[in-house]
Amino acid sequence: MARGGGEEWQGASSFFDLDVKSILNPPESTGMGFWSLNPYVGCELGCTYCYARYAHRYVTERAHASGQLSPVEFARFQAPSSWEGFERQIFVKRRQAVLAALERDLARLHLRNASGSASPIVIGTATDPYQPAERRFHITRSILRRLLATRELAISLITKSPRICRDLDLLRKLQARHQLVVYISLISIDVSIIKRFEARSPMPHARLGALQKLTDAGITAGINAAPVLPGITDSAFQIDSLMAAARDAGAAFVHPAVLRFYPAVRDGYLPIVEQQFPNLIPRYRAAYRGNWDAPPNYAAAVQRRFQRAARKYRMSTDDPLQVREQQPLEREAQLSLL
Ligand code: SF4
Repeated sequence: MARGGGEEWQGASSFFDLDVKSILNPPESTGMGFWSLNPYVGCELGCTYCYARYAHRYVTERAHASGQLSPVEFARFQAPSSWEGFERQIFVKRRQAVLAALERDLARLHLRNASGSASPIVIGTATDPYQPAERRFHITRSILRRLLATRELAISLITKSPRICRDLDLLRKLQARHQLVVYISLISIDVSIIKRFEARSPMPHARLGALQKLTDAGITAGINAAPVLPGITDSAFQIDSLMAAARDAGAAFVHPAVLRFYPAVRDGYLPIVEQQFPNLIPRYRAAYRGNWDAPPNYAAAVQRRFQRAARKYRMSTDDPLQVREQQPLEREAQLSLL
């Protein structure tokens, strides 16, 4: 059901309540080595390379089938392309349903942890938990408050938004009680690149400022340099400047991951490359022919560049909770609606 009868809020975005039965997707159902949690479906930050866009269509269809979207609302959701819908029509998981689901899911997780297979919880694998909607709905904050009250966990948060600093009080307490790692996503400190590929996301100085506040507060935090964009953010200069800025902001690590060419990425990202960097198109077509993954020798070369810069700035390129080693599969998008 639309919030305020579908009233638009904050630019052109609309918000719709979504009931959920579970909120933590277990490792075995997603093919990832962690429990994933996403408070919203859709993301107003709208990065061109976002692999999670297809999730929106699944959720829309299921919400309609379960009667949570009226025929009129469903028709509205069908109107824009799934590309636009993902950015503009945001499902807000209903707070009470989220908290009830979290009780059940944490019981399952603790049982699993007690049997010796502890896996971290990662918040923000398919949508940004601090996207603009969080300013109004506070779903992420409610989840963090509940996690604070539970037994020892490994938790990580992935975001591009300085809005995370609103929750510094909770993050400090979470860090004292659990193993907490914050990943600030930043692919480059070059504003012209960010404007081309992440036009609705906070600019690099704002993200680095947030990183500085987090690390000043004693939170373990670093940079999620993903995706590394072939031919655009993979030069030694780009990597060195990102690493230097991260070091200055107190980052504990910079963890890179090369672009994976999922269908949603191909549809959204390639037209921008065609427009802005046409000379790269033959290279992309050859490198990713029939593959989601970049060629292994290329990925290894990028990793070596990051490691060289890491040695220079005395930083780590390791992933503290190993959460970025695997990328979400389509299954996660389908499961995250439940
Ligand atoms: S911030 Fe993350 S989830 Fe949101 S559009 Fe960008 S890549 Fe996708």
